[in-house]
Amino acid sequence: MIKFKACGRCEGDVYFNADRRGVDVYCLQCGSRRFFTHDDMRDLTAQKVTDAQATDDIQEAA
Ligand SMILES: [Zn+2]
Repeated sequence: MIKFKACGRCEGDVYFNADRRGVDVYCLQCGSRRFFTHDDMRDLTAQKVTDAQATDDIQEAA
């Protein structure tokens, strides 16, 4: 599923890819990527996704 203009960083189009572990949220424009577990998703709002993407990619440094 793609949500248009939902990226908190660049307002690009965001791709949601759900699998067994959770949901991968990936911006097609800037490459910002976040993963939410199903536990996270239970009370996840669009605002939380936006906030998570707006933060720097510290998690991806490793
Ligand atoms: Zn983006």
